[in-house]
Amino acid sequence: MKKSIILITIISSIVFALGFIGVQLYLTNNKNVSEKPSKNQQPEITDSNTITIPEQDTDIKENKITKTVYPILGQSNKLSQKEKANMDVWRSNIVELTKKNIDTLFVNGFTNEKKVCLTFDDGPDLVSTPKALNILKENNIKASFFFVGQSIKLYPNVVRETFNNGNLVLSHSYSHPEFTKLREENINTQLQMTENEIYKIIEKRPAIVRPPFGDINQATIGMLSKANYKTVLWSIDTLDWSQKEKDNIVNNVVNNVRPGEIILMHTAGDKNTSMDALPVIITKLKEMGYTFVTLDDLLKVNAYK
Ligand SMILES: [Zn+2]
Repeated sequence: MKKSIILITIISSIVFALGFIGVQLYLTNNKNVSEKPSKNQQPEITDSNTITIPEQDTDIKENKITKTVYPILGQSNKLSQKEKANMDVWRSNIVELTKKNIDTLFVNGFTNEKKVCLTFDDGPDLVSTPKALNILKENNIKASFFFVGQSIKLYPNVVRETFNNGNLVLSHSYSHPEFTKLREENINTQLQMTENEIYKIIEKRPAIVRPPFGDINQATIGMLSKANYKTVLWSIDTLDWSQKEKDNIVNNVVNNVRPGEIILMHTAGDKNTSMDALPVIITKLKEMGYTFVTLDDLLKVNAYK
């Protein structure tokens, strides 16, 4: 009788111990499962300009993509105090908006490699755009052009050449209005009319837009995103729209350049100074070890729909 009590005690102790281990294993497994999705949901903010996005399908911390939104740089001594103050406010607002819309609004690319994008707004025309195309071709590099619909209609051959040379033909609206002052249906009309003009020439519809004047707010970003557009601004402004000094335009780029930079220049009307500055910018950046890519390549997004 005594022996059987001892035996029962031993057996129950073993059963209890096995049960305890089982519960522990169950809890450990469940913890791993529940941690994974929550880890992928929330970007982890490491400093004011950096958002670290956990990469999908991997738990390895070293593989995280660091998305740093750059402060927007470039100066001009032609701006009044008030214009400069307004520009500074716009720049800090844009950086905050970009951090909130990290997959749809871009001011720069996220890379450690020495890659930059040259971007040209307000063309096509018959003077500056062909000059830019020649300079790019001579240097064997490609760039991204944000064209205005009503000028596309006037100069289809320039658009065709831009595309045939391997550059991107993207949307800068139809008539260059301030997007934040338009209703959604008017923004859609601006986008659609520009798409149609581009499609007639290159049989492609752009999927990247640059709102005129960089005029954008949270509501507008939502509208553009709904129309299947990524919105791309810039991280260096050459301020070639404000100043005609070649050296200032060059220095705005070469003194500020960071990997993943998106550089803003213009090709419309009298932009001779910009086209004088362009070969110098290209040569100096090449000397510094930079290569030139198009926006789809830098941002890993589609250029066309
Ligand atoms: Zn413009």
